Amino acid sequence: MTSSLPAFAAVVVAAGSGSRAGGAKQWRRLGGRPVIRWSVEALLDAGAEDLVVVIPAAAGDEAAEALKGLSGWRLAPGGSSRAESVCNGLSALGGPSGRPVLIHDAARPLLDVAVIRRTLEALADADGALPALPVADSLRKASAGFIEEAVQRDGLWRAQTPQAFRRGTITDAYAAWPAGEPATDEAAVVQRAGGRVRVVEGDPRLMKLTFPEDFAMAEALIPRRTRVGQGFDAHRWGPGTSVWLCGVEIAHDQTLIGHSDADAGLHALTDAILGAMGDGDIGDHFPPTDPQWKGASSDQFLVHAVERLQARGGGLVNVDVTLICERPKVKPHRQAMRERLAALLSLPLDAVSVKATTTEAMGFTGRGEGLAAQAIATIDLPA
Ligand code: MG
Repeated sequence: MTSSLPAFAAVVVAAGSGSRAGGAKQWRRLGGRPVIRWSVEALLDAGAEDLVVVIPAAAGDEAAEALKGLSGWRLAPGGSSRAESVCNGLSALGGPSGRPVLIHDAARPLLDVAVIRRTLEALADADGALPALPVADSLRKASAGFIEEAVQRDGLWRAQTPQAFRRGTITDAYAAWPAGEPATDEAAVVQRAGGRVRVVEGDPRLMKLTFPEDFAMAEALIPRRTRVGQGFDAHRWGPGTSVWLCGVEIAHDQTLIGHSDADAGLHALTDAILGAMGDGDIGDHFPPTDPQWKGASSDQFLVHAVERLQARGGGLVNVDVTLICERPKVKPHRQAMRERLAALLSLPLDAVSVKATTTEAMGFTGRGEGLAAQAIATIDLPA
């Protein structure tokens, strides 16, 4: 059992333009959530009593959208420098001078409660605290592409955020900071004012999103869980000249009857994907009573399910569909069906299976009354 955290407030700084990351990175999605939302959620979950998010002055709508559904945060406008943005956040925060405040960069989204705890607890005998990682690689100073000298890495640390201070300590230190001089971070400001800043163990996952390629690395650091969903569907045979199965039209002396194109393979697969993410069924998303789906191509149902999965930061791993009928013969069309599904799902061909079976003339499929399909989808979602 873990003891409760000391009471604290927080300022999340998201006022940068993100020019090196190729645009305003704080609103981009990572693991299905806007970058800024990760650390705001982590700080609120850890019990932040008050939380100010500092954003570019004109970005109120983006912030409201990115933080929708969370409560306990307020916005403050950014300044012309990081230091000015932090000071705006601290002014907006207010509160008792002795209350610990965590100051955090939104560009470090993967914030864990253990880091929050270590940083806050270190304030017990210091004027400030910051998480940092020891430098593991050997360091070289180079010029014009050639090594000039080795740099001793002993005692060198890579500073991260959140950095913790009592509110009075950091506001007084900023007030004493020489005007116009750029400040590296709050730890440097408090140190200049004579404060002692403690280093606590950081977290490699707290990497800063600086360059566009950093997003892929951060995605890979997000824990994911594999899930499985299954779907089943059946449609009745009726008069017609062709049938849609797994997105492929096959010439046949009958067709499947349904509100849409009655592609039972795609319907079962759509339900399998929705089922894997606990997101209802195809009828919830496309009610058969709604005239706009009459005769609709079922491709769009499947694509919709995949888009909902992607919106949650999820991905498809593989799918497996079984068609159950006596006729038509599925085997000559299996490869075309797999290729069509692979294209719709953006999956490699070996992650897409279409199989077929008869029921040896038994049951409704065996008597030729209808065709049935079942499907399984494996997905992964951010944990
Ligand atoms: Mg159906």
